[in-house]
Amino acid sequence: MKRVLSGIQPSGKLHIGNYFGMMQPMIQHAKTEDLYVFIVDLHALTSVQDRDRLRQGTLEAAVDFLALGLDPDRCTFWVQSDVPEVCELTWLLSVLTPMGLLERCHAYKDKVAKSIPASHGLFSYPVLMAADILLYQSQVVPVGKDQKQHVEVARDIAIRFNNTYGETFVIPEPEISETTAIVPGIDGQKMSKSYNNTIPIFLDDKALRKRVMAIQTDAAPVEAPKNPETCNLYALLKLFAPPEKMQEVHDLYINGGAAYGYLKQDLFELISDYFAPARQRKEELLASPDYVRQVLARGAEKARIKATVTLDLVRDRMGLKY
Ligand code: ATP
Ligand code: MG
Repeated sequence: MKRVLSGIQPSGKLHIGNYFGMMQPMIQHAKTEDLYVFIVDLHALTSVQDRDRLRQGTLEAAVDFLALGLDPDRCTFWVQSDVPEVCELTWLLSVLTPMGLLERCHAYKDKVAKSIPASHGLFSYPVLMAADILLYQSQVVPVGKDQKQHVEVARDIAIRFNNTYGETFVIPEPEISETTAIVPGIDGQKMSKSYNNTIPIFLDDKALRKRVMAIQTDAAPVEAPKNPETCNLYALLKLFAPPEKMQEVHDLYINGGAAYGYLKQDLFELISDYFAPARQRKEELLASPDYVRQVLARGAEKARIKATVTLDLVRDRMGLKY
């Protein structure tokens, strides 16, 4: 059994990029591995500085995960800030983190370019993420491709720590599925909560249809042959359509005859059907917030036991026990 860990930010409505890049693989891992999955509210503070939005977003992200099928009895599921040991480890790791390592991170540069304030917290986001991964001695970290570099930063920090203070941390590996590595948003860029280009997982049909109809496509006439590889509508259809349907769509792109309006209607119906059972479960869970809080409290208790063992070892290794 491998220790598998990954987190998600409550920085906005969870979207189908989150689902295919991270949530679906995590829900599967809960069945076979020693799974750690958590809502990273401390990370979300880098972009959400509204008390109510963060509080509601955190609970809702937990509800979403449970509604989509995460079994909390077969994993450790908690909210990051409920285990404050991670903040102490962040400092201890940051003294070993070269500036250059963080200066190279694309996610920071991309977010600043999109007008998210360039705070010290946003800059050191990967160190907090390294602390998350290393605190629980994680072996595998399932992520979308956008987070691969951050897992590499965690590896570098762990190796540096082990070289300086002796074997302490497990060196983690990223796990990225080739087919869902980067789900495009409706504008063709990476789908991201903070880029306002998402298709949220949980929308009612009217809002979902409107969102799908807003997917940007080129202006080529219906009869013209089109390149499926460069079309974000095609990439999104591929996530939901069965193989026979996809073969048909592929032929239409190559030979001409692909009408974007009809294909968007197909995509809307496919997404709506795919998430219908989860939408139903979400309604039920929203009606029992106490149950959800209980699940998270139990998870935090379990996570904290592991966290304390690692932090104790790290303190000792670094000479903080005198
Ligand atoms: P933000 O814009 O606030 O950074 P986000 O939408 O990028 O939000 P995160 O919470 O940063 O979502 O990421 C949660 C997980 O979802 C990570 O494992 C990340 O790699 C994955 N993920 C996010 N966006 C995509 C995407 N477009 N395609 C595939 N995986 C994704
Ligand atoms: Mg992100």
